[in-house]
Amino acid sequence: MKPKIIILGAGYGGLTTSLILQKELHSDEADITLVNKHSYHYITTHLHQSAAGTKSTDRIKIDLGELINPKKISFIKAEVKKVDIKTNQEVYLNNGQILDYDLLIIALGSEIETYGIEGLKENTFSIRSVNTVQLIKEHIDYMFAKYKAKEAKPEYLTFVVGGAGFTGIELLGELTDRIPVLCKKFNINPKSVRVINIEASANALPGFDTQLVDYAVKLLEKKGVVFINNTPIKECTENGVVLANGELIKSKTVIWTGGIRGNKIMETMGIDHHCSRVKVDEFLRIPSFENIFMIGDMSIIMNKNGQPYPPTAQMAVQQGKYTADKIISYIRNGERYQTPFTFLNKGVVASLGKGEGIGKIGHKQVTGYRASFLKQLIDNHYLYSIGGLPVLFKKGSM
Ligand SMILES: Cc1cc2nc3c(=O)[nH]c(=O)nc-3n(C[C@H](O)[C@H](O)[C@H](O)COP(=O)(O)OP(=O)(O)OC[C@H]3O[C@@H](n4cnc5c(N)ncnc54)[C@H](O)[C@@H]3O)c2cc1C
Repeated sequence: MKPKIIILGAGYGGLTTSLILQKELHSDEADITLVNKHSYHYITTHLHQSAAGTKSTDRIKIDLGELINPKKISFIKAEVKKVDIKTNQEVYLNNGQILDYDLLIIALGSEIETYGIEGLKENTFSIRSVNTVQLIKEHIDYMFAKYKAKEAKPEYLTFVVGGAGFTGIELLGELTDRIPVLCKKFNINPKSVRVINIEASANALPGFDTQLVDYAVKLLEKKGVVFINNTPIKECTENGVVLANGELIKSKTVIWTGGIRGNKIMETMGIDHHCSRVKVDEFLRIPSFENIFMIGDMSIIMNKNGQPYPPTAQMAVQQGKYTADKIISYIRNGERYQTPFTFLNKGVVASLGKGEGIGKIGHKQVTGYRASFLKQLIDNHYLYSIGGLPVLFKKGSM
């Protein structure tokens, strides 16, 4: 009998697994179903550009219909509500469907971590999906229009980014590219606009070399960003953010990029987890569940120093490929997963706006235009890998 394979999530991890299975397996070898809450895949690594308004959301969405062959994979557009891995081995969807499986791949990504900060969820924006970044873009435009047409309140043009990690820094790079455009459009003096970054730890970009962090911070300061480090946010209100020292920074636009946790679906599964993420075994399976892979941001993988690797698209894609290979080998040869997963760090590049970036490939540091070019190459390579030339030409940056 054909094994039933269910893949939850069509992000970097889930889509990679799906596309390899689609290419390699014949339709009589497995019954494959992919579930995703949207009918499109989105380029998460470009969300910050759409949030700032430097790239339209159409450029970061790829219709799953262009990638998935219905003769090989059944696609269900629905939201996963519950995963019962202990009693019935079933997945519950918001459309009422219940799916059973022989092999399950869970790749539902992450959500924002609020660290219990009061009012954060209610009063801040987050960079999590096409819809949330569309909202940010429209809100920023509206703030400029409101400042000009209604009342010139400084809080309308005070933009606060909470967190100076990878996403926060990339967002600041784009925001500071867009603001001059908006100032021109609305005929507003650029000096009226403030962009503030608030970070609880001593430095921006943990994990990056000091020289690269200095490069990024100096460049962003030149573009107008004010960095406030060593300062946790205590509370977020509709008027702005209250810092640990009690100071209120008035702002109508606070964008939180300070941390992520795994998808809350984890809480329906009745297994041990750490902030909705699971330390998977060496074969990327949930411990004690031989037929369930957990990949991408929901999984925790340790490096050789016993520290968890940061959740990245690079990690999710490599896990997606590994999982597909293991499933194919299992179906074809009955081979149980014998080769453990190993992560190959190919380097990391962060963009700092148009033509600017920082990165490290192996031991080599790159900055400026070279880093920005490298980032485009990485992104284009991913687009080509999922959709070939048609997707590269439609969505890539040339
Ligand atoms: C602004 C930004 C920039 C980034 N830049 C980089 C970078 O340069 N390099 C890098 O390596 N990483 C980067 N990352 C991190 C990277 O995007 C993530 O690590 C990666 O997307 C994780 O892949 P995933 O498959 O686990 O989840 P995702 O890619 O987030 O996919 C999860 C999928 O599950 C779907 N889903 C979620 N919940 C449900 C549900 N209940 N039911 C059905 N479907 C659901 C979602 O719609 C989505 O399609 C960046 C992240 C952000 C936000």
